[in-house]
Amino acid sequence: MNKASIYGLTFEQLTAWLLEHEHRKFRASQVWDWLYRKRVTDFAEMIDVNKECIQLLEEHFVIQTLTEHVKQESADGTIKFLFKLKDGNLIETVLMRQKYGLAVCVTTQVGCNIGCSFCASGLIKKSRDLTSGEIVEQIMKAQQHLDQAQQDERVSHVVVMGIGEPFDNFKNLVDFLQVIKDQKGLAIGAKRITVSTSGLPDKIIEFTDADLQVNLAISLHAPNDKLRTQIMVINRAFPIERLMKAVDYYLEKTNRRIMFEYILLKDVNDRKEHALELAELIRDKQNLCSVNLIPYNPVDEHSQYQRSEQESILAFYDTLKKQDINCTVRLEHGADIDAACGQLRSKQIKKQSEDDISDQDRFALG
Ligand code: SAH
Ligand code: SF4
Repeated sequence: MNKASIYGLTFEQLTAWLLEHEHRKFRASQVWDWLYRKRVTDFAEMIDVNKECIQLLEEHFVIQTLTEHVKQESADGTIKFLFKLKDGNLIETVLMRQKYGLAVCVTTQVGCNIGCSFCASGLIKKSRDLTSGEIVEQIMKAQQHLDQAQQDERVSHVVVMGIGEPFDNFKNLVDFLQVIKDQKGLAIGAKRITVSTSGLPDKIIEFTDADLQVNLAISLHAPNDKLRTQIMVINRAFPIERLMKAVDYYLEKTNRRIMFEYILLKDVNDRKEHALELAELIRDKQNLCSVNLIPYNPVDEHSQYQRSEQESILAFYDTLKKQDINCTVRLEHGADIDAACGQLRSKQIKKQSEDDISDQDRFALG
């Protein structure tokens, strides 16, 4: 039997499961305390949980499913993990030191089906969704890395901006968010969690109705349909007008702000006219939104795109500011270690296949 990850269960799900198996309710609190406060990696270490319960848990669940494949540390303290899943697939997780705390960027899928033309993750079709347990475990691995240094540091922020489209793995995403927000566990505040989506309108509405209180970021990247479709093929199915209707629904229902992400691609979407058009597009919600300008991290396979010049980035920023649009430029983390979305993974996979090819060459020659 392929055992499930215990991290995948919300507190309520674990409580119900234990009751179903004739164990008392308070065991769930004990188990969660061991998992998320003491952060053990073996059921046998849960010494105040009775033997029968430990045995039952061992029969049905595992704690660890990820193994560390590569770990890169950059000069600015950013750590990039490449984890191997039970089925051999590789995923990326990044731990970033920010001014405001320690943020972890998690992956939600193996590959991504949205296929944005600038993105390293989109190069590899989605082979499967991650389970909620696999997503939670990425945070636990980053936290355990911090625990080892014994500096009493805690992961304080989470961004769902790694490989994959989180809204294409909706149920597992929601369970993951419930687990990490829970006061009885990691207790990461909803306001310190941000989910980024390429903009699937129906899912934005479902997300709004789920009332999770976490922040939402939309990868907009262009101010009009023609350009957005050129950069993000998903825009053909869900054009800007439909996307903005869902955004308006979110803004009305949640009373929360929204962030638009905008990658600056040299001579593609980074001119003054684009900034002005963007300002007009979001004018009606300018008090409820901000724009996060992202310097593009070049991807070898997408050589048609280059990073905008620093001057263009600043000019774009100034134009938006003059139009009274809230705006920030994303600071880069770990620029020296392939920290952009999907890059370490795609390089690793390429390296493996190059090794495979050179083996084949040797066979062919030999
Ligand atoms: N699939 C979701 C979340 C993961 S991508 C989404 O698209 O929103 C997270 C963010 O990283 C997105 O805004 C995405 O456009 C951006 N991104 C992807 N590749 C990048 C690159 N090479 N350089 C800079 N940002 C990139
Ligand atoms: Fe997928 Fe996001 Fe990359 Fe687009 S930018 S291919 S949605 S991971």
